[in-house]
Amino acid sequence: GATIGILGGGQLGRMLAMAAARLGFRTQIYEPGDAPAAQVANGWTRAAWTDEQALAAFAGSVDVVTYEWENVPAETLDLLEASRPIRPGRAALRVAQDRLDEKRFLEGLGLTVAPFRDVPDLGALTAALAELGRPAILKTRRLGYDGKGQVRIDDATGAAEAFAAIEGADAILEGVVTFDREISVIVARGVTGETVCFDPGENVHAEGILRTTTVPAALTASQRQDAVLLAGRIVSALDYVGVMGVELFATGTGLVVNEIAPRVHNSGHWTEAACAVDQFEQHIRAIAGLPLGDGRRHADAVMENLIGDDMDRLPELLAAPDTRLHLYGKAETRPGRKMGHATRLTRR
Ligand code: ATP
Ligand code: MG
Ligand code: MG
Repeated sequence: GATIGILGGGQLGRMLAMAAARLGFRTQIYEPGDAPAAQVANGWTRAAWTDEQALAAFAGSVDVVTYEWENVPAETLDLLEASRPIRPGRAALRVAQDRLDEKRFLEGLGLTVAPFRDVPDLGALTAALAELGRPAILKTRRLGYDGKGQVRIDDATGAAEAFAAIEGADAILEGVVTFDREISVIVARGVTGETVCFDPGENVHAEGILRTTTVPAALTASQRQDAVLLAGRIVSALDYVGVMGVELFATGTGLVVNEIAPRVHNSGHWTEAACAVDQFEQHIRAIAGLPLGDGRRHADAVMENLIGDDMDRLPELLAAPDTRLHLYGKAETRPGRKMGHATRLTRR
């Protein structure tokens, strides 16, 4: 059987490895740090991202390379790409690694994004604030997740103070979008260009971290159709292979694209409880060149992330009816750390 190489050993890599195993594939994780994924994979290359020898050995042991983390250094990918296909491809990684490139790419497709300005320095921030007004959100161009690397600028926030809060990193300033709800589309595209979407989910965040995803999202039929169509345009423009998460704001004047994630996505975890083929299997099918599966939703569901102290509720969650529990096997519980998720089927 073929072996799938997974860059990144977090919970997403772990769930990909489980899905791969169910389809008869072997998996090899590449991860320098702790790797919950290593518990379920066939092997773990524990080495620095730019360790040439380790990368060569890893490439030699796998047939195709995928990733669960979009910030894998370009140098790592250059070394791997010389000998093995990387799916999804480099085009998607380039736009997803940099918020400025991402915004420009999405705008270039004719999609709506939050108003934004390039902020390379404090002078640019002052000018951008004058143009976009307050409140606004300053976001580092690279490496942000779970709301990290972001600062909201209200009337009382000084520009210098905000710039210091992101340590003077290259950034963009975004206008605050007034939305009715946040949704996401989990879209999959196969090697032949075949594209399927899971039903859009409605997301609630707290302190920048996803708390819950509910399906169905409270959308009109035309909003639902717009969401699915725009996700299809994004993946086809990138000649994408694999699963992508597309985060959207639903507003009174249409959908605004927040960001894209070139990988399986936290807001797609409900699919394991409510679809015959979930996002993880769909991703493995896509990158292995298999036909995509049936992602139709057969239940209504609410997925809740279990973060930090939420783990204290484990007995209650274990006793809850219609609830599928998924824990990531992380040794240590920390505030803000995603420890697992629980998906409750609310109607079937
Ligand atoms: P993720 O963990 O999803 O990668 P992230 O750190 O990349 O998160 P964003 O998705 O940019 O962060 O922002 C986190 C949340 O903050 C969004 O889901 C949304 O709730 C809010 N937010 C971000 N940008 C805006 C905006 N321009 N207008 C309104 N709300 C916003
Ligand atoms: Mg993000
Ligand atoms: Mg986000």
